[in-house]
Amino acid sequence: MSDQITVQGVVLSAMPIGEYDKRVVLLTRERGKISAFAKGARRLNSPLMAASNPFVFGVFTLYEGRTSNSLVSCVITHHFADLSRHQPEVYYGFYFLEIADYFGKEGLEDRDTLNLLYVVLKALLRQDIDVRLVRCIYELRMLCEQGLAPQLNACAVCQREEAEKWFFSQEQNGVICIDDLSASQKGSPKGRKTGLTPLSPLTLAVMRYIAFAPIQKLCAFSVGEETISQLEDAIYPYTQKNIDRKMKSLQFLEIFT
Ligand SMILES: [Zn+2]
Repeated sequence: MSDQITVQGVVLSAMPIGEYDKRVVLLTRERGKISAFAKGARRLNSPLMAASNPFVFGVFTLYEGRTSNSLVSCVITHHFADLSRHQPEVYYGFYFLEIADYFGKEGLEDRDTLNLLYVVLKALLRQDIDVRLVRCIYELRMLCEQGLAPQLNACAVCQREEAEKWFFSQEQNGVICIDDLSASQKGSPKGRKTGLTPLSPLTLAVMRYIAFAPIQKLCAFSVGEETISQLEDAIYPYTQKNIDRKMKSLQFLEIFT
């Protein structure tokens, strides 16, 4: 049948509809974000029951109707079911899915976001990487993939590539050298360094790595508390600035962590 399509993707969200059905939102490699009706997915014997849940990666067959799509079948390739047994990791997972939903666009091929999601969800279940570092990696790389990368290779003000000390400036959308730090502080009230994070050479190197390394290698390192704190201080407000609403799952994450 010509109106049936097969896509590779992940379930970002699943909402119960009526007594037995669900509406799922998928992020797919071939077509970006797609929503579909999963008829009977809440019935115990339904073949769609296991597939229509968040964190399920698979190959989905959809019937494209005139006004909506229906999920026909799914071959599950990976389901991060273990995540639900781990807190706070599962809240991070839902937050990652919500961010992907926020940036997902219909009809656009989206291979990189799908790979990125897979890599960070997998990292959440590992014991040797801090979940806060995984969140920093995900947020910064996601923004880069969306064309919202901060300037990291040179000073955002004077464009120099070498400096004695670096800072991340929310106002300048990137790193600034110590000379421009003094300039940017002149206009602000004394003692208040709002939106400025001092970056150690290691933190700057880590940010550049996150922005440019192959996605598969993103979660292959670990750093200490000081570096994670600097990353959080620079990346979280930067993400917030680039998203025009507060993510529901983030509020949840803040309550439980
Ligand atoms: Zn500069």
